[in-house]
Amino acid sequence: MAGPQYSLGMSVTSKTFLDMYQAMLARFGHQGWWPGDGALEICVGAILTQNTNWTNVQRAIANLKGAAIMSVNALHAAGREKLAELIRPAGYYNVKAARLLHFIAAVHERNGDDIEAFLSRPIDALREELLSISGIGRETADSMILYAAGKPTFVVDTYTYRILLRHRLIAPEDDYETIKELMESHLPLDVELWKDYHAQLVAVGKHFCRPAARCPGCPLEGFPHDPTSGDW
Ligand code: SF4
Repeated sequence: MAGPQYSLGMSVTSKTFLDMYQAMLARFGHQGWWPGDGALEICVGAILTQNTNWTNVQRAIANLKGAAIMSVNALHAAGREKLAELIRPAGYYNVKAARLLHFIAAVHERNGDDIEAFLSRPIDALREELLSISGIGRETADSMILYAAGKPTFVVDTYTYRILLRHRLIAPEDDYETIKELMESHLPLDVELWKDYHAQLVAVGKHFCRPAARCPGCPLEGFPHDPTSGDW
């Protein structure tokens, strides 16, 4: 991926964000997110990945596929007990089965078996509807919108918060919507860039910007930072 081009008149913050992206991209390469086979699988994965790692999510998704119920209709027809058993590898399986069924019920009620139709509405309406579903928070909703619907919304997670805070780009009290707005207003409107930017921040967070920062060798080490802030 060539990466975005800079333009004259770009703000310092915009340039910083893009320079950070280039540094992460140079280290990790394009991340190719979201791993998932189609819009429904991405949405299911976004729910299952809450509080667990992706390997466990993959096992749960493999179980759903193995049981031949990876469709809106089939998931809707599956009982909560059966679903909970199949997604057990993802942890919190009773809670996640309920969340998954809430989401599937919303899709089924509005668009039957057609997840693409559900995701095709305007971004604000889609986000509002997703956030109205029990168990779908901002990060999950934005992951679905960005990666499954392919619409521009920036996904904010713990890694995003920690990295931006340690690089003095946000204040400790900044909330999800403030950080999302900051990123969206300082990056070019480019869905592929936003997809990969979030994935790159996750890679930095996993490998370097952990609760105790491991700055030596981090691709963002050359940018002003305070590794002791956000020390949790
Ligand atoms: S590990 Fe250090 S250099 Fe890397 S993102 Fe965190 S604070 Fe920045």
